[in-house]
Amino acid sequence: MKSAKILVVDDDELNQVILTKTLTPKYQVHCVSSAAEMFAWLEENTVDLILLDIIMPQMNGYEALKLLKHGERTQAIPVIIISANDSNEDEAKGLELGAMDYITKPFGSAIVRARVKNQLTIKQKNDLLEMLASIDGLTEIPNRRYFDEHFAREWRRSARAGLPLSVLMIDIDFFKRYNDHYGHQKGDECLKRVAQALVNNCQRGSDFVARYGGEEFVAVLPGSEGDTAMALANKLCNVVRDLNITHIDSPVADRITVSIGATTFIDGCDDSCEMELVEQADKAMYKAKQQGRNGFASYE
Ligand code: GH3
Ligand code: MG
Ligand code: MG
Repeated sequence: MKSAKILVVDDDELNQVILTKTLTPKYQVHCVSSAAEMFAWLEENTVDLILLDIIMPQMNGYEALKLLKHGERTQAIPVIIISANDSNEDEAKGLELGAMDYITKPFGSAIVRARVKNQLTIKQKNDLLEMLASIDGLTEIPNRRYFDEHFAREWRRSARAGLPLSVLMIDIDFFKRYNDHYGHQKGDECLKRVAQALVNNCQRGSDFVARYGGEEFVAVLPGSEGDTAMALANKLCNVVRDLNITHIDSPVADRITVSIGATTFIDGCDDSCEMELVEQADKAMYKAKQQGRNGFASYE
């Protein structure tokens, strides 16, 4: 297992040195000297745990903790406060603001190691639960819940940045007949293979593929224009055909095929458009079905 990453936020250099010594080599430790440096670091890096000092110039630890707990990307990171403020009130305040634990200075190395270990164990279990709740049990790709969260985030990001966002809705053709002919278990195997093929072929950095439901998949393509989305739709149709999964009861081919609907959002827009984009992709997918399946269509 990879060693956990810990961020130490303390304006006192000696504390930084002692904490680093206490926690390495078991963990990867990075030190910063202020709340501002911490937020800058978190823009670019992920961490598993933050050790946060309270008394610091400019922004103190309480203020920093409040901001951490309000940040979408930072709210789930566990924080242990390490502070010279040793009153009950201080400790209660830190815990109420969302710190997982509170260690008073001067601290003993064994206590720090033990408390850090406890928080990392909890973090690991939470990460696992989060992962299990987001991954589809059959196909092992992101599920609908994960898609909803991810898509809302990407939508906001694209709208803010004024970047295009494309969505593909992908539906297996005549899958009911496949199940009826080959049995549900073969149907499950087929879903797994199609899902993996889709994921393996949506490889641009921020592309995201999820199981939308039953035999329907969705791809979110941030930064992709309409042309790019259509090209990918074409490629994915080919990729699934090339899996060569025999389907003798399909009226459109001798093997498993998909119909894909594509749509692209370009201009900045309000929140109400988010689900519209999925509806558009869905409509385009039905158009592809009407046009004979085993192909793709775009939403006009
Ligand atoms: P169309 O080309 O119009 O999409 O026809 P279709 O038969 O694919 O569509 P329909 O919606 O009528 O049927 C979808 C089928 O997908 C029915 C359902 O039993 C099957 N299905 C959905 N989820 C699963 C699953 O997890 N495993 C298996 N084996 N089949 C599933
Ligand atoms: Mg279908
Ligand atoms: Mg369907």
